[in-house]
Amino acid sequence: METKYDNNKLNESQSTESQDGKGLNFVEQLIYDDLKEGKNGGRLNTRFPPEPNGYLHIGHAKAICMDFGVAEKFGGTCNLRFDDTNPVKEDVEYVDSIREDIKWLGFDWGNREYYASDYFPQLFDLAVRLIKEGKAYVDDQTSEEIAAQKGTPTTPGTESPYRNRTPEENLDLFMRMNAGEFEEGARVLRAKIDMASSNMHFRDPIMYRIIKHPHHRTGTTWKVYPMYDFAHGQSDYFEGVTHSICTLEFVPHRPLYEYFVNELADETYRPRQIEFNRLNLTYTVMSKRKLLQLVKEGLVAGWDDPRMPTISGMRRRGFTPQSIRNFIERIGYTKYEALNSISLLEYAVREDLNRIATRVMAVINPVKVVITNYPEGQVETVEMENNPELPDSGSHEMPFSREIYIERDDFMENPPKKFFRLAPGGEVRLKGAYIIKCEDVVKDADGNITEIHCTYDPETRSGLPGSQRKVKGTLHWVSAAHAIDATARMYDRLFNVENPAAETDRDFREMLNPDSLQVINNIKVEPFVAQNAIVGTKFQFQRIGYFTPDYDSSTGNLIFNRTIALKDSWEKEQKK
Ligand code: ATP
Ligand code: MG
Repeated sequence: METKYDNNKLNESQSTESQDGKGLNFVEQLIYDDLKEGKNGGRLNTRFPPEPNGYLHIGHAKAICMDFGVAEKFGGTCNLRFDDTNPVKEDVEYVDSIREDIKWLGFDWGNREYYASDYFPQLFDLAVRLIKEGKAYVDDQTSEEIAAQKGTPTTPGTESPYRNRTPEENLDLFMRMNAGEFEEGARVLRAKIDMASSNMHFRDPIMYRIIKHPHHRTGTTWKVYPMYDFAHGQSDYFEGVTHSICTLEFVPHRPLYEYFVNELADETYRPRQIEFNRLNLTYTVMSKRKLLQLVKEGLVAGWDDPRMPTISGMRRRGFTPQSIRNFIERIGYTKYEALNSISLLEYAVREDLNRIATRVMAVINPVKVVITNYPEGQVETVEMENNPELPDSGSHEMPFSREIYIERDDFMENPPKKFFRLAPGGEVRLKGAYIIKCEDVVKDADGNITEIHCTYDPETRSGLPGSQRKVKGTLHWVSAAHAIDATARMYDRLFNVENPAAETDRDFREMLNPDSLQVINNIKVEPFVAQNAIVGTKFQFQRIGYFTPDYDSSTGNLIFNRTIALKDSWEKEQKK
C-alpha cells in the first residue's frame, strides 16, 4: 500500500540517530528537536484521544505506545482525553474498558483524565465569538445539499445561499439551535473560510450539528455538539498539549487544526500535530464500526472474544502486554501506510510466552495406554520442570500410574518411515518418566483403537542410569486416574482473507473464517493445571501450544483458550 500524503517528507520515515546517540523514530526526532529549541518552554505534553464508541484494538495500542511512550522517554506527560463529542454512539462501558486496557498495557495517565465534553462551554464561547466576528454562519441546508456544493479537489465549491447572514441573525439561530427549537439536521453552524480553497477541509467546514440524544456526561445540557475538527485542536490547546500525535488520515486536516488553534493561541504556545501510519493487520479488520457489527450480530462472543483484534480480546486469548509492545516496537512508525503480518504479532507472543509460560502436560485428543507390567494400584510421582527458560521457577509433581493417556496422533498402527512416535513393537520415552514399548492394540467392533497395551522398562525412569538409553521419540502424557477433564477452545484467524478491508465489493462478513473457533471437550490435563487454573495464568501444554484459563471456567467446567500453537502452521496450510 502507498499513501498519498506528504510524499515530500518520506525521508522522515527512516529512524534517525539523534544527537544524544539514541536511535529515534521520526516522531521522536521531531519532538527531540522542539525540546532542544526550547519550544513551549521545553515542555512535552502528549495525549491519547479515544472516542468512547467501542473497545480499543491493537491499532490503538500502537497510538498508546507512541503517545505515552514518547512522553516517558523525554520526561513529559500524556493525557488521556475521551473524545466524547457524539453522544449517539458513546457509552460509559467503553470509557471503563478503555481505562482498563491502557493500564493493562502498562501505561498511566495519573490524574490527567480529561473529556472533550469538559470543553463544551469554552468551545461554545469560541463559536459565539466567531459568529460575532463574521467567521461563522448558520446554514439551513440539508447535509446532502451541503455535500453537493463541496466541489472537487480541482473545482471550487459553491457558496451557500445562507452564507451572508448577519452576525445577529446567526447568533440568534445558533442560540435557538442549542435551545432545542429545531430538529436534528435542520441547521448546522459552519465556519466561513473559503469555498474555493485547494484544501477541501477549508470549504466552510461544519462546526456544530444538532443532536438531541442525551450525552453520557453532560446529559441534556447541550443540543448542539462540535464536530471533530472544531473540537480536537482547541481541546489540545485548552489542555496545554504540545504534541498532538495522530494517524496519517489527519494530514489534510492539519491546516484546519491550525486555523482554529490560531483563533485562541498567542505566540508563546501552540500544539503541533504530527502524523504516523496506522497499524493494519492481516486476516482481521480494524474498523470499530465493523467490530461493533460483529459483536451486535453475535458473530463473535463479545468485544473481548479471543479472536477479536481488541486489546481485551487479546488479553483473554492469553497475549501479554509485553508481546504487544515488542511487536509495535518492531513494526515501528513511518509515513507510509502498510499492512503488517499477523504472523509477526504471533511471533512476538510465542517469544514472550516461551520466556514465562509454565510447562505442563495436557492431552487434547486422548487414547488410553495400559502399561501391563506396571503394578496395579501403584502411583509414583515424577518431577516436572516448570520452565527451563527460568531456572528459578522450580518444578511440580505429576502422578504416574498403570493407565495413562497419550495423544491419539502419537500412535500409528502402520507408521511411515521416520515416524518417531509410538507404533507396534516400537519404543518411546514418556517425558519425565519411563520408556515404554507397544505390545498390542485393542479395538472396538468398528475397528477404532480403544487401548494401546505397552510394557515399561523400570530401569529407564528419569534419574536412573537406564534413562540414558536412546529412543527417538518423547511423548507427553497424563495419568488416567488423576487426569482432570477440561475444554479447549482452539482459536484461529478471524478472517480467511488476507486483507478484508481491501475487498470493497464484498460484505466483510462473508470473509469470516468458519473454522476460527473449534471447541474440544474432554481434553485431559494433569492435576497441577487444574489446581492453578486462575485467569491470567500462562501455560505451555507441552508439544501442543500456549493456553490460558478462560473466565467462563467459573461456570464449573474448566475451559482453556489456546493462545497460539507452538509453531506457525498457517503458512504451511496455505501452501497445501
Ligand atoms: P473512529 O472511526 O471511531 O474515529 P478510530 O479508530 O480513529 O475510529 P479513535 O478512538 O478516534 O478511533 O482513535 C483514538 C486514537 O487512536 C487516534 O489518535 C487514532 O489516530 C489512533 N488509532 C486508531 N486506529 C489506529 C490504528 N489502526 N493504528 C494506529 N493508531 C490508531
Ligand atoms: Mg477517530
